[in-house]
Amino acid sequence: MQFLTDFTPELVVASPGRINLIGEHTDYNLGYVLPAAIARKITFNFQRNNSDDRCHIYSKQYKTGFSIDLKSVRRSAMEWENYLLGVIHEITKKTDRLRGFNCTIESDLPAGSGLSSSAALECGLAFGLNDLFGLGLSKISMVKLSQRAEHNFVGTQCGIMDQFASVMGADGHAMLLDCRSLDHTHIPMELAPYKMVMLNTKVSHNLASSAYNIRKSECEEGVSILKAKYPEVQSLRDVNTPMLLECRDRMNTTVFNRCSFIISENNRVLAMVDALRKKDLNNIGALLYEAHEGTRTLYEVSCPESDFLVDFAKKHPEVLGARQTGGGFGGCVLHLVHEKSVTRFVESATHAYKKKFNIPLEAFEVRPSRGTTITYTK
Ligand code: ADP
Ligand code: MG
Repeated sequence: MQFLTDFTPELVVASPGRINLIGEHTDYNLGYVLPAAIARKITFNFQRNNSDDRCHIYSKQYKTGFSIDLKSVRRSAMEWENYLLGVIHEITKKTDRLRGFNCTIESDLPAGSGLSSSAALECGLAFGLNDLFGLGLSKISMVKLSQRAEHNFVGTQCGIMDQFASVMGADGHAMLLDCRSLDHTHIPMELAPYKMVMLNTKVSHNLASSAYNIRKSECEEGVSILKAKYPEVQSLRDVNTPMLLECRDRMNTTVFNRCSFIISENNRVLAMVDALRKKDLNNIGALLYEAHEGTRTLYEVSCPESDFLVDFAKKHPEVLGARQTGGGFGGCVLHLVHEKSVTRFVESATHAYKKKFNIPLEAFEVRPSRGTTITYTK
């Protein structure tokens, strides 16, 4: 099938990826997270095509596209299409104002690397359609409908963090988000003389999305055991360590470890905010290493490649701290590296990683940037 791969857009939307400084898997447990949008993004070109129902979407990166009829939006056998179909489906549940459109997407955001290309994809489409057809959706409703799209069409029971961070990011700031109330505060991220360097392991283990849903149900099992003793508990957010220890005998070790990680990870997010405010660099680094250790031993969502990089970083005093970022089993490892040593450190990590896994490491710096924006409108 021929797709419209280039046209003069009436609207261009930049939809960023995000890093998560700390607070992994806490979002669907209604806890705290501390993400930031980054300058790497998915760019959407849009034009209305004067049809009532025909929509054509083309991914320049994947060199393929698809067409749909707005009257019959269904799940596709192609995974990437479902992120977009899910958004269209959620929008059509809310409004009948959508009409035919053409859309191309291009990206400098590596997919499946823990930088949330999935949320960038969902939210960028929602943002664009909202503007193109004057849907009047608020940012928060676009965030929520994008999350539902991922639940219902893709099948990942993700929390709210990724979509929230992509849409609400602010230049130079991380965002402390309370995933229960959705209250959020922008926290200045002043890490000088350290830079945020992402090392992409280039591994994206297949078990990631099924393991994600399993972790979620293990946490739910923990909650139901805790609830029997403490009826007020609605999520792991309501649990502290003494409460967990009180119920330890009633849960298996895996469930105990999962709960234990989430409780300590929530505490680490708040400790990180405190450390950022005090510019306590040593504590910032220590919290990153501690979080990775929990990811590795208690939540068991790291992998040999990420562990290797974190262990490698620990041997280098020019690195303040490091941890795997994102859902897990690969993707990017976030490093805070002294600005004078970035090139040297990246070279030696690349060399060591290549020797160990025969994979060329990809390295890039990130800084906190603004959330989803309209960059052009006719
Ligand atoms: P992450 O969100 O960390 O990047 P996910 O597995 O959640 O990882 O989402 C990655 C998926 O998003 C890809 O497998 C693909 O289906 C989709 N995706 C990301 N970028 C693009 C793109 N440029 N074009 C089409 N699909 C994309
Ligand atoms: Mg994702």
